[in-house]
Amino acid sequence: MTPTLVTVFAHPDDETFAAGGSVASAVDAGARVVAICATRGEAGEIADPSLATPETLGEVREAELRAACAELGVHDVRFLGYRDSGMEGSAGNADPRAFATARDDEVVERIAAHFAELRPDVVVTFEPGGVYGHPDHRKISRCATAAFDRVPGVRLYYAGPSRSAFMTLLSEMRAAGVEQPFPFEDSGTLGMPDEDVTTLVDVRPQLARKKRALAAHRTQIDPWLASLPDEWLDRLLAEEEFGQVRGERAASIGHGLLEGLTVSTR
Ligand SMILES: [Zn+2]
Repeated sequence: MTPTLVTVFAHPDDETFAAGGSVASAVDAGARVVAICATRGEAGEIADPSLATPETLGEVREAELRAACAELGVHDVRFLGYRDSGMEGSAGNADPRAFATARDDEVVERIAAHFAELRPDVVVTFEPGGVYGHPDHRKISRCATAAFDRVPGVRLYYAGPSRSAFMTLLSEMRAAGVEQPFPFEDSGTLGMPDEDVTTLVDVRPQLARKKRALAAHRTQIDPWLASLPDEWLDRLLAEEEFGQVRGERAASIGHGLLEGLTVSTR
């Protein structure tokens, strides 16, 4: 029986940053992988204005997600059809199609319908804080969890990184004079609480694919990321941390998302 892994994230590029290496690793291990994305990232920045306009960004980012998922080996890419709400307090929050304004029960319904069809063994979504608090990230975490509880698989994972990994990287960058994307004072609320981490995946074998997937999100390569020396980019991307919140725990930390998985024969 081939295991099925389904990722449920809010915007194109979330999947690659949060779990791209683990996804590629699951594909390597023979899993069927499906990526579900709540929005087309319509409210994102446009790193290079020649690539998209605010009007075309959703369409462009859909194509970018498909290209990134092709790099990772994902078999199927699906959208829930909501609109990116933008950062907390931005104008996009009030758009009637915004993901942030959708009713939770309706979102859960849509995700659960995909789960009922796909019967995922493993589901991966954001940790409840959305890594850095983005309202769409928090909402997808909450709704994917409720959908999992309605159509249970074998395991549910929350994607990190952990707070300490995040803090360590930021403080080392600061010490090395490397510019950072987050104000350092806020870093105490970033990432997943360390005590919630159950699974650390070394994705160095998948790093080249993860970086190509990241590069496929061309409109999202912000100047900070583009300016990051390779050594720091590799450190940022080489490990992925997860907290398993449903299902019997895998043996120990340091294994992939499918480690020891007994695939159900539903
Ligand atoms: Zn996002």
